[in-house]
Amino acid sequence: MKSFEIPEFYRSPLITSIKQKRKQQDKLKKDFEPTHLDFGVIEIFLARHFGFCYGVENAIEIAFRTVYENPGKRIFLLSEMIHNPQVNRDLKESGVQFIMNTVGQMYVDWSELKSDDIVIIPAFGTTIETENKLKSIGISPLEYNTTCPFVQKVWNRSEQIGRKGYTVIIHGKPLHEETRATFSHSSSNAPSVIVKDIHEAMALSKYIKGEVPLEEFYTEFKGQYSSDFDATKHFERIGVVNQTTMLATETQEIADFLKNVMTSFYSLTEKNIAERFADTRDTLCYATTDNQSAVKGLLNVDADIALVVGGYNSSNTSHLVELCEEKLTTYYIENETKILDKNRNFAL
Ligand code: SF4
Repeated sequence: MKSFEIPEFYRSPLITSIKQKRKQQDKLKKDFEPTHLDFGVIEIFLARHFGFCYGVENAIEIAFRTVYENPGKRIFLLSEMIHNPQVNRDLKESGVQFIMNTVGQMYVDWSELKSDDIVIIPAFGTTIETENKLKSIGISPLEYNTTCPFVQKVWNRSEQIGRKGYTVIIHGKPLHEETRATFSHSSSNAPSVIVKDIHEAMALSKYIKGEVPLEEFYTEFKGQYSSDFDATKHFERIGVVNQTTMLATETQEIADFLKNVMTSFYSLTEKNIAERFADTRDTLCYATTDNQSAVKGLLNVDADIALVVGGYNSSNTSHLVELCEEKLTTYYIENETKILDKNRNFAL
């Protein structure tokens, strides 16, 4: 896999050598056993996979290179580049200004932007509406674009199945930047609906099967369906894609559930299910799957506590916390300064 040039302060010599050693021993990434570090008074088990993924390193490389290559220019980020507070702070300290917060509230009015400003698109991607807004100001949304290729892959897959007449069901958090971006791109090609969990997928299945009045769909899923959505005909062929950082098992559960609904409602078999249900398993992100599998491997170890480090608004990290909480007392911390006891701060 491609390696990226990111600032040295994001690399730890200890972690880099541990990761390299594990990689050499397990090139095919089949071993999800944690790494055991025995310091005598304390034993630490490190998950087999963690840390910056491909998309995050790609975004960091582009953003810092943009700052380095454009001294004196005004540089903006649409919103947080990734949900990692340290990286966002470092970019701000490098002079990058944020246009809006994670839920779309503006810090900088569009009217303040000029055509020679640089606007970096975050790793989550952005909506077609925002892309058009930037174009209308004379700023190319593609020139400094850090949209992760794995998010782009979801958009491409949505477009493919949309063109074949399937409605796109997006498993994601409706307000998350990536889901808003995926919904926007998907809606431009196909009727689209967001479901945030299996309960919403079950609620949706009642409309698919006509068990509840179809008019109620527009109230129950308000804000989660595309503007042209017609509940009388857009549930006949469907496919499921996801926000890349959702729990992979939950996306699979939703896809399997809806596939079963279509199979039994339309009396289909494995041979002809593709007529009404698109196979989209290939849109799951490798990093999310690896990290979640590594945490499951970690939880086979008998430990006293789990410590999960990451941004509090990170979907990826919060799902890892959920997995740990099933077995261990779990502490979710943003960084090393949060490791405290009443007498001492263990910050290194
Ligand atoms: S899609 Fe996967 S690789 Fe890309 S930024 Fe998200 S977690 Fe990382």
